[in-house]
Amino acid sequence: ARREELPEFDGGGRLADGHLVPLLANVGGGADAQAAAAAGAQGVGLLRTEFCFLGRDAEPSHDEQVAAYGAVFAAFAGKKVVVRTLDAGADKPLPFLTDASEPNPALGVRGYRTDKASPGVLERQLAAIAQAAAEHQAQVWTMAPMISTPAEAADFAAMAARAGLATAGAMIEVPSAAVLAGGILARCDFVSLGTNDLTQYTMAADRQLGALAALNDPWQPAVLHLVKASTAGAAAAGGKPVGVCGEAAADPALAVVLVGLGVDTLSMNKRALAAVSAVLRTIDLPTAQRLATLALDAESAAEARSLVRAQLPQLD
Ligand code: PEP
Ligand code: MG
Repeated sequence: ARREELPEFDGGGRLADGHLVPLLANVGGGADAQAAAAAGAQGVGLLRTEFCFLGRDAEPSHDEQVAAYGAVFAAFAGKKVVVRTLDAGADKPLPFLTDASEPNPALGVRGYRTDKASPGVLERQLAAIAQAAAEHQAQVWTMAPMISTPAEAADFAAMAARAGLATAGAMIEVPSAAVLAGGILARCDFVSLGTNDLTQYTMAADRQLGALAALNDPWQPAVLHLVKASTAGAAAAGGKPVGVCGEAAADPALAVVLVGLGVDTLSMNKRALAAVSAVLRTIDLPTAQRLATLALDAESAAEARSLVRAQLPQLD
């Protein structure tokens, strides 16, 4: 395969005042992880494990899973790798987990919810993650997608602990989880905002429908208010880590707003690392906070975007 041309990235994730914002990569498997490491990513903020097994009729074996996760850990020795457990849904079908006939797939049995319908699959996945983690040096964090309640976060954290995994978290991609982020973080170690789904569910706009793109925009002030609720919940829970791993983190101006809202780490496609790093190093934390307030107070996504971009002429 031809080597991909990637923009220059120095590996840094720091504001002008020295405030650290680790920049991590979203990856779908070992080859992707190697490319992200070569591009300078400081770790993995989202391993989409379902991408390792898309379309499969049968659950992958223990050994197969250990090999798939281990290939990612090997690319990030000594670094943080956040592994998301299987996020099957009608849009990302794993026939051994999903029921393709659901009438309303985005609201159906998907993500963490498949654990009740298919008992054992999640435990076996956690066991494979734990074994792969024991075989490699990466710092492995595990998180569940589509967590809706603090009780689900507690159940997942207990399951991860039983598998021997020390650090367990919840994705915040359902509005109820953002509203109750403090309660969720009282029961697990970290959260990661999946802004793609959080936007879709906040705005009740299917993320796959181009016709709804204006609603399905992470600059929507309502979405930003839920990001703020999440970081406020994390602060109330003693300052546990909050990341963003949705596409919002890859938009340089929005990345500034997210940092201003109190997000600790940003995870994105490796192609976005250089542009996000370049804008972050031109601003300090008070500026990011001021721009976040501008966006929160805007009346529309378009207004939020243009108010913030007007303050960041370095992006033009
Ligand atoms: C998200 O929803 O923002 C996310 C990161 O998960 P996915 O895009 O895989 O649903
Ligand atoms: Mg999601």
